[in-house]
Amino acid sequence: SKATLFDKGTRVNITFNDVAGLDEAKVEVMEIVDFLKNPKKYTALGGKIPKGALLVGPPGTGKTLLAKAMAGEAQVPFFSMSGSDFVELFVGVGASRVRDLFKQAREKAPCIIFIDEIDAIGRARGKNVMMSNDERENTLNQLLVEMDGFGTDSGIIILAATNRPDVLDSALLRPGRFDRQISIDKPDLFGREHIFNVHLKPIKTSPNLDIKKLASMTPGFAGADIANVCNEAALIAARKGKNEVEMEDFNDAIDRVIGGLEKKNKIISPEE
Ligand code: ATP
Repeated sequence: SKATLFDKGTRVNITFNDVAGLDEAKVEVMEIVDFLKNPKKYTALGGKIPKGALLVGPPGTGKTLLAKAMAGEAQVPFFSMSGSDFVELFVGVGASRVRDLFKQAREKAPCIIFIDEIDAIGRARGKNVMMSNDERENTLNQLLVEMDGFGTDSGIIILAATNRPDVLDSALLRPGRFDRQISIDKPDLFGREHIFNVHLKPIKTSPNLDIKKLASMTPGFAGADIANVCNEAALIAARKGKNEVEMEDFNDAIDRVIGGLEKKNKIISPEE
């Protein structure tokens, strides 16, 4: 909630099974899960466990989902905050929220801290229009101080998500901070089929639903769009009084979601 601005170490029961596709990213994050589970195995030979990784990719592709699944797989608490929640805060509040977050995380380590939309606080100087530069810098500086302030054996892994790695302050990307980047791309045909399979599970569908066809009808869709299609289709079929969701309901749902995406794109780039 806005009142706390961060998720206080919730236990999550999401696992890698809930994340469809993203096979390469999963391999990379499994390594991080193993750091959390068996830290001594990795530090035995003098190596340093990375403190953080940046999940880079377009909106709705499953960055938050993957971060939660990592916590679920490692069975550690999940703390999260969103960079965009910090943009309207009064002077000093952002920094103290970051301090609080890390204090609570240290008490519950091993754990994962997830910072969504890190670009909102982590932009290079002079590029942020949303927040006064002083306040943004205070918040960013506090984050850097916190990241430098714990050892690599502390059991805290910080994950951050962005779709704009190019605007990030280089201080964030230095060794010992977010020195690993994991790319989370929009799904290809097979990825979309997998994501449909995940989101069709709770839905009562007609036995002759063609999932491969649904995947081929949705190029450019992110996982979040596919989740949306499945839900819309179920609502459309229910409104018609059906007792199972048919292909035509999915056709309508896809049209509706495409309509929504077009509207959103117009708002983002009005010159088009
Ligand atoms: P944003 O950058 O907008 O925060 P994100 O990349 O963090 O987006 P999520 O919030 O993880 O995206 O995705 C939103 C929802 O879309 C998920 O809760 C899930 O229902 C669905 N989803 C996205 N990607 C996948 C995927 N790879 N497998 C299964 N479901 C997915």
